[in-house]
Parts: sequence; structure tokens; C-alpha cells
Amino acid sequence: MGCMECPMCIGGDWVSTPDRQTIELPYDGTPVATVYRASAKEVNNAVAAAVAAAPVMREMSRDERAAILRRAYEKMLATREELAMAVSNECGKPIREARAEVDRAAQTILFSAEEAHRLQGEVVPMDASPGGKGRWGMTVREPLGVIAAITPFNFPLNLSTHKIGPAIAAGNAIVHKPASATPLSALLMARIFSECGLPPGALNVVTGPGGLVGDTLVMHPDVAMVTFTGSVDVGVRIRNLAGMKRVTLELGGNAALILEEDADLDAAVPRSVVGAYAHSGQVCISIQRIFVHQKIRDEFVSRFVEATRKLRIGHPHDPETDISSLITVGEAERVESWIEEARQAGAVVLTGGLRKRATIEPTILSEAPAGVRACCREVFGPVVVVNSYDTLDRAIERVNDSDYGLQAGIYTRDMEKAFRAARLIRTGGVHINEVPTYRVDQMPYGGVKLSGMGREGPRYAVEEMTELKLTTWKA
Ligand code: NAP
Repeated sequence: MGCMECPMCIGGDWVSTPDRQTIELPYDGTPVATVYRASAKEVNNAVAAAVAAAPVMREMSRDERAAILRRAYEKMLATREELAMAVSNECGKPIREARAEVDRAAQTILFSAEEAHRLQGEVVPMDASPGGKGRWGMTVREPLGVIAAITPFNFPLNLSTHKIGPAIAAGNAIVHKPASATPLSALLMARIFSECGLPPGALNVVTGPGGLVGDTLVMHPDVAMVTFTGSVDVGVRIRNLAGMKRVTLELGGNAALILEEDADLDAAVPRSVVGAYAHSGQVCISIQRIFVHQKIRDEFVSRFVEATRKLRIGHPHDPETDISSLITVGEAERVESWIEEARQAGAVVLTGGLRKRATIEPTILSEAPAGVRACCREVFGPVVVVNSYDTLDRAIERVNDSDYGLQAGIYTRDMEKAFRAARLIRTGGVHINEVPTYRVDQMPYGGVKLSGMGREGPRYAVEEMTELKLTTWKA
């Protein structure tokens, strides 16, 4: 494979700097591309380009914005293999999952095109109040101006489109900073949008270290909003630095699944394997904690272990591969040390637990104490802790005993129990008869507690990315 040169995109120009960075395939360190690290100068130029493009975006009709997004959707499908290979190369994702990510990302852009058409205000019944007689009121949603989008490594393409698509639909200009490890698909999206008629400067992609590029963007006076997906630590820092800017934060989790005694295990076992081990658990809603009713504990565990052992570990480009590497050797070492900590605290390793370079075997721990990091922090690796319980309320309590709250799942055939769980679990979303890892891209998505604030999904993101403006008149 050749090692491509990938300059960043500022104001419609392709820009390189003297500071080069090699992007490597995480699985084995093979170099796949060269990118360039921005200094504050390139970040400021990108914001200036976005400031210049913002009025052009604002004046564009909804239909013109939707048309650009629809063309980008078509182009993404036409370049599916190139995008999938970029995703697989930059984050080490098995190619089957990378292709699925491209399909989802294209859908996200298509949903955004639809939202460009739908974005509307309302007529306000001013005369419902005694002081409003003879008056009319209406609201419109106006673009914010320049939006800084900062994205993580694990879904480098789809999580970028969740920011770029709605921002364009709502008539904003964007400066996008992808994760340093995974800038390739973001740069391809800049090319796609420029070929699809997006005005120069409306989408700028700046590559470089989070500390410098991120801080410069977050503190820049011309940036109106920061939309961030990533870790809790960086999210809190952004919140603290952003001042009066609007901020949405999509952060981490340690998602839980409840399996009631009447759960359909034929459905739950295969879904649990997908929910726990897709992209080696590097998914913010990856199943990390399973609470299984004590009456079905042994049957579930034996079926879950058997299904997990069938997963194939290998090179990400091999279409047969289910499990490939984590993003870095350092991350794999961290996950390995958390497994060891749980083991020393009394957890039993039912399967997996071993590391080879950056790859960790799919791992199931049993009965780990709640205080170990594999339970109470975000593992972000292929590790699941299974614990048994006796009553549903006790299971719900343990699900809620977490600093995070992104999504949860419950399998039961009993409607009353299902809705009790849905009502009492404190997360942004609860799935009944589905794993917490379930997401389709039009649904509202986001967390409570340390998992963040604000919602994504194009219909919800366009609201976050616009200002509601009221106009009244007296007849
Ligand atoms: P991360 O380390 O927080 O990085 C995310 C992004 O923030 C990267 O682009 C990073 O740039 C940038 N960044 C670093 N320091 C910054 C700063 N001071 N100011 C502004 N930006 C800065 O997260 P990650 O390791 O890439 O991703 C994994 C995390 O994302 C997990 O916690 C996961 O749960 C979370 N996540 C959440 C969701 C969700 O929707 N809730 C979805 C996916 C992932 P560099 O790469 O250059 O450091």
C-alpha cells in the first residue's frame, strides 16, 4: 500500500506545514499516510475562512443546502470502498465494520439533507396573553455562524458526519478537527464536499494535536459553538474554557445490560457479542456491565462464553476478521492492566484476557467488585463484566450506580418490568429487548451525568446548531 500525502483543507485550499505526521495502521504499525500538524496560524486561518463563508451559508436557501448534502451522500456511496479503507487504515477497524460505518455516515448526511428542508419555526399565539391582543409572533431558526467540530478516533467518519451534516443543513460554516490518529476520512469528506459544491471555507479540516488546535478553536472569539465527541476529561476542559459559546458534549460511558429471568437468550446472546466486541469494545455504548438474573446466570454465561470464543481475531483488512487491534499499544496495555486489577480483586476471567501487541482477546470477567476500574470507569476495550442479581430493582440500582449515563438495555418479555426499567434507569436512552449499543443515526442520542450534554441525530443537532429568533408585529 502506498503512503498518501494528505494536506489539510483551509478556505478551499490544500495546505501543508513543515510539521509532518505519519499515520500508521494500529494493528501492526504499517505507515499508511502522511498528514501535517497545524500551528495556531493554520487554525486562525481556518476560522477566518469559516467567518468569510458563514454569510454565504446563511444566505443559501434550504433547498440549495439540501442539494449539496444529497450530492455528498451520492458521492460517499460512489467512493464507499475508498472511505472504508481510510477508516480501516486509520483506526484499525475490521473492514466489514468500516464499510458499515461508511453506509451509516452516508445515511447521516442524507438525514441531514432532509432536516435542511424541515428546519422550521412556528407561529406563536401572542394573544393567548391579555397583553398580546392584536399581535402576531413567529419564530425562525437562524444559523449560529462558525462551529468548531472536534471528533474522536473510534468512528472517525460517522461521528464527523453527525457534526458536519447538521451544521451545513442549518446554514453554518465549520472548522473540523479530527482525532490526530484518524484524520484521513475527515480529509476525504472535505474533498467530497468541495466537489459537491459546498462554498470554499464552509468546511475546513485542520489536523494537529488536540491541546493546541483544540484549545485555539475552543477559545477563539469568532467560534460560536463547539460540538465535541470524546473523553470526559477533554469534554470538561472544553466546557470550562468555552465561556459563553454553545457547547454540546458527547462523552464516554460504561453501558449496562439487564437480562431478566424471562429474557429471550436466543436473541440476547448474539446481540451481546456484537454489543460488547464491535470494534474491540471501542464504542462509547459498548456493553461493559451485564447484570443477569441469578436463575439464568449459568445458562447465559455458558452460551455467551461459547459465542465469544468463536470471534476471529486478525488483520483489519481481512473480511473474515471480527476482532482487530485497539488504537495503540499503550491503550491495549492499559486495558490489560485493568483486567489484571479486576483479577487481583477477585474477578474470574471466564475467557480471554491476553494481549498481543495492540490486540486484546475478547474478555469476559465474572463477579468483579464494583469498585474496580473494569466496572466503574470506561474500559473502551473488549472487556465485559458479568454479575448476577436477584431482583429487578437491585439490578436497576446497580445500572444507575455509575458516573456515566449514555444508554442501557434490558431483555424481558414482561411489559411491566420493561417499562419500570425504562422509567427508573438514568441514561440518555433505554432499549427494551436490545443491547445498549444499538443506535440508528436519526434517533436522539446523548447522555446524562458524565456522559455529556446535548443531543445528536440530525433532527436534534440542527436545533443545537441554530438560534431561535422571535419576530412580532402589531396588526
Ligand atoms: P479524546 O482523547 O477525548 O479525543 C477526542 C478529540 O479531542 C480528539 O480530536 C482530540 O485530539 C481532541 N482533543 C484533545 N485534547 C483537546 C483539548 N485540550 N481541547 C480540544 N480538543 C482536544 O477521545 P478519543 O480517545 O479520541 O475517543 C474516545 C472517547 O470518546 C471515549 O471516552 C468515548 O466514550 C468517547 N466517545 C463518545 C461518543 C458519544 O457519542 N458519546 C462517541 C464516540 C466516542 P487529539 O487526537 O489530537 O488528541
